[in-house]
Amino acid sequence: MTRVSVLAGGVGAARFLDGLVRVMAPQDVTAIVNVGDDMEWAGLHISPDLDTVTYTLADLVNPETGWGLRAESRRTLDRLSELGGPDWFMIGDLDLATHLYRTHRLSQGDPLSEITRDLTQRLGLDCRITPVTDDRLRTVVGTDAGELAFQDYFVRRRASDAVRSLRFDGSDSASPAPFVLDAIRDADVIVIAPSNPFLSIDPLLSVGGVREALGQSKAPVAAVSPIIGGQAVKGPAGDILRSLGHDVSALGVARIYGELADVFILDEADARLASEIESETEMRVVVMPTLMTDVEAKMSLASGTVRAALDAV
Ligand code: GDP
Ligand code: CA
Repeated sequence: MTRVSVLAGGVGAARFLDGLVRVMAPQDVTAIVNVGDDMEWAGLHISPDLDTVTYTLADLVNPETGWGLRAESRRTLDRLSELGGPDWFMIGDLDLATHLYRTHRLSQGDPLSEITRDLTQRLGLDCRITPVTDDRLRTVVGTDAGELAFQDYFVRRRASDAVRSLRFDGSDSASPAPFVLDAIRDADVIVIAPSNPFLSIDPLLSVGGVREALGQSKAPVAAVSPIIGGQAVKGPAGDILRSLGHDVSALGVARIYGELADVFILDEADARLASEIESETEMRVVVMPTLMTDVEAKMSLASGTVRAALDAV
């Protein structure tokens, strides 16, 4: 039995986890998921990263976008738009049921982690998916246009503003959800998923005690680079590395994870950076293909990452 805990954002993490649950016993896998992207939309509580991970693992995700449900329609959104309501955030008709369910349970006082457990069990998932915290945590993006709520920056303004700073509103008082610290403490392997280091992993680590637990855990920590060949596979990670003054490369990411991780999973395309990363950080570098184009690629990245972590101890 090898228990694997994964620090996870949305699409990149979900793809990795999809591989992981096919090569490990799913009951031994815990995904600790970012909630810094969460928002209130038309009175509903939306948890984009939790839903992306859940839909992907339940094989319900829209393969084109990597988020949202497959075969989705937007009649409700179109009607809402006709009524003059908020229509800039895509919520599909079927997806809406998840948000109604979650918001209803939250309004009854149930914690997000319990609601997530029930949703994932209902969808037949055997792995554990938990928000990093049940408390309110909101990523706030500092730009030249001022501070923006995360989804304002990301969706409404299409991540077009240069990111000057980031803060995680609520992190001072947020505590880890039940099982989060245990999942870090009792893991045999911890993986930092190929997620956005600034928008997905940093908010997770800002929750009280999480970073410390990671540092104290005896389990080897492996981080998978979300940057391949000097570019993010998807999304603004490259732009944010640049605007915050980091190297726009896997080396730039490695410097960020150097204190946290023992092993750095580097894409073949970046193999020439391996020795530089190893001499600048304490991490051992393992080179492998990291582009998750199909199920086989996801599975071999997941098994390769776990093996590399276990070899490091
Ligand atoms: P988001 O919350 O949906 O943006 O998802 P994440 O933060 O989990 O993932 C976004 C990051 O995943 C981006 O920085 C991408 O570069 C990275 N990513 C997406 N697909 C892949 C892939 O196939 N391989 C690797 N190495 N990174 C990926
Ligand atoms: Ca996200």
